[in-house]
Amino acid sequence: MISEKASQIGASPTLKISAKAKAMKAEGIDIVDLSIGEPDFFTPDNVKKAGIQAIEENFTKYTANEGIPELKDAIIQRLSEDFGLSYSRDEIIVSTGAKSSLHHLFQAMIDEGDEVIIPSPYWVSYPHSVSLAKGKAIIVPTKEENGFILTPDQLKAAISPATKALILNNPCNPTGAAYKRHELEALADIVLEEDIFVVADEIYEKFVYDDFQAVSFASLGEDIRKKTIIINGVSKAYSMTGWRIGYAAGPAEIIGAMGRIQSHTTSNACSISQKASQEALAGPQYEVSKMTSELQRRRNYVLMRLQTVPDVSCFKSQGAFYLFPNFSAYYNKEFNNVQIRNSYGMAYYFLKEAKVAIVPGGAFGADDYIRISYTTSMENLEKGMDRIIEAVSRLKTAKKVKRIALRNTITREKKSVPVDSSISVKMKDALIAEMESHLSYDNYFEWNANINGVIVQLRTNVSHLNDFWIENWYPAQLEADLEPHGIIYAVDGIPGREPHSFYNSETNTGILVNTDNYSPLRSLALGMTIDVSERLFNVFAVRGMSADIDGNGVVLVGPKGTQKTELFFSLLQDPKFRLHSNDIIFVRFSGGRTLADSAERKLFIPTNAVESYPRLAALFDNSNCENVITRKDDCQDTECLNLDDCRLDRGSLYCYKASKDAHALLDPYWIDGPAKHAKRSSVRWVFILRYDTTSPPVVETEIEDALRMLESGESLGLKRDLTPSKSQPFYNPHLLLRTPERLELQKDFFERLLEGTSCYLFNSGVASAEDIKKIVTDEKEKERE
Ligand code: PMP
Repeated sequence: MISEKASQIGASPTLKISAKAKAMKAEGIDIVDLSIGEPDFFTPDNVKKAGIQAIEENFTKYTANEGIPELKDAIIQRLSEDFGLSYSRDEIIVSTGAKSSLHHLFQAMIDEGDEVIIPSPYWVSYPHSVSLAKGKAIIVPTKEENGFILTPDQLKAAISPATKALILNNPCNPTGAAYKRHELEALADIVLEEDIFVVADEIYEKFVYDDFQAVSFASLGEDIRKKTIIINGVSKAYSMTGWRIGYAAGPAEIIGAMGRIQSHTTSNACSISQKASQEALAGPQYEVSKMTSELQRRRNYVLMRLQTVPDVSCFKSQGAFYLFPNFSAYYNKEFNNVQIRNSYGMAYYFLKEAKVAIVPGGAFGADDYIRISYTTSMENLEKGMDRIIEAVSRLKTAKKVKRIALRNTITREKKSVPVDSSISVKMKDALIAEMESHLSYDNYFEWNANINGVIVQLRTNVSHLNDFWIENWYPAQLEADLEPHGIIYAVDGIPGREPHSFYNSETNTGILVNTDNYSPLRSLALGMTIDVSERLFNVFAVRGMSADIDGNGVVLVGPKGTQKTELFFSLLQDPKFRLHSNDIIFVRFSGGRTLADSAERKLFIPTNAVESYPRLAALFDNSNCENVITRKDDCQDTECLNLDDCRLDRGSLYCYKASKDAHALLDPYWIDGPAKHAKRSSVRWVFILRYDTTSPPVVETEIEDALRMLESGESLGLKRDLTPSKSQPFYNPHLLLRTPERLELQKDFFERLLEGTSCYLFNSGVASAEDIKKIVTDEKEKERE
């Protein structure tokens, strides 16, 4: 339903944790919130007054898109007084918070593939903001021993021809590191030499301690000013987070482009807030220095307390209002037999056991650390630190438990690839020539699989694909001169090509380009097998899940979102039913019977099937897996993430549920032994699945109706919140040839299949596996009578 990019973006972890802390407080839990990135001071009175006055004067209409001139002048004045900088109005834009300025800036300056260097630990929104603009975030880890400062050598090494900009957050959220003038100058030399831009996020510039001199990057010289876009705002310095005013100062061309983009997103920032911000920036500044000295007192206090925690080191920050201690010494410890494995686990422990909210360092790209914000009162800080220190003292060294190392391959590509199944022989020849030029003899794997009697040869340069291939299928005879029915080239590393799958039916040739993911290879192999066996052997495929009872098959067919997996595993939990196939069966008519074979030696099964059949988890532990999630950041299960009870936090090394793209190769014999698996079954019942709340639970269908449904492959009502997937003729995504003649052939086959079976339209929105069992047993009873 949502876009790919949206599905890859989680909500800002800092905002999420602060919201959680607020919700706990509302429930009456005495929580200390050290997660929030806003000072607990109030907006100065003169600023508030300016806002009220704006309302009273009816200054409540749209303003100039880029900000009112008076506020721009106040910004210009502040930059001049503080840093000796000189800007004109067309070099300034006011936006709805600095976050919005950053977003518009990246949209304005980045083309697809442009690289932006982001030193880590980084503020959580930078990588997302860059990737939303189709740029590539290049993360460069800074070191605690260097004071979390990006070194010139690091910058140089990170620059490539695609580099567009460096983001320099000074002082830095989350480390509190601030750059001295000479450190900035060393970076500026490289910036000029390499001709890149600098996004200088200086929103914490007012909060520096111990007489540290904040230096604005743009102030280093006129030529550097031309390459710098300053980002700042009133959120932090004037305690105005809710007023939402940020700004950017930089070259007029870039600021102009940002303005054009802003004119289509937010238009002007809030008129009242603009007036108040003008007062904040142009009015007296003593509130800022009062806040700064109070924050310094708080930093000193928290730092002093952290120094008493055994095995924790903490960098003495020079700015912002965060401390970033290294808590990794506690990651191998446990409480209540649950091991803390990472910063998320640490944060979870503090939240649940100490009632203190902090932000895990993993959110900032530095998992060894946690971020403590000291923006709350001294009293709260005392309470929070008491609790943290007490909770840490309760952690015990974990008993050495023997862990099964997951055999998991993470592939670069995760998704299915576009398929073109109508390429000409000429194009096939050209593609093969291209593939072969990339199959060097020292990195070449070849193996014949026997897929239900069809011999398919794989030629690949990806060892992972070869491994899964060999394990997935039965081997073909070991004869060097065995002629395969078809050949698949799966070649990775071809420059200039997108991941793609091709098929030529005349020559039974499949070509898979630039994907290391097993799913498209298996699908291509099944498609080829279906094509060959229809033509040569009069054997057809049914895409569905199939269980066997006393030699008779129950087949569940239908689109995604109709609870096929859930029903299938419910059936299997009944000892009478045996597993036949979880994805596809090959059917032949022989001696008046409809014989169905399962073709896979090992089942390629989505690991999230554990939700339907938890027992599978222990079996997956011993299976070869692909793309099982091991880091919370990669989790795609938003529902589960919202529950804030993540197994990765609680010490597990992986989560089988966290991604739809994770698979295991499971030996079917492992599910209750060989007797519980049927290689062959005689199809007796076909259930076509739909999902809604109103249609009847189960209806026996006429062959014609069933055929119509199968042929269109349409979804008849799906689970809420699922978009209907593209209609797939016969609900079979593996079918490669969809010409009218071939689809007619399918229809003839299904007609014959349905003539010999009972076919039901089954509504899994109201009916359950019990209804299937009842139909099956009733019919068997009747037969016996
Ligand atoms: N940059 C940094 C480094 C920040 O920490 C924040 C706020 N947490 C912002 C930008 C955004 O500030 P705002 O949108 O409130 O102006």
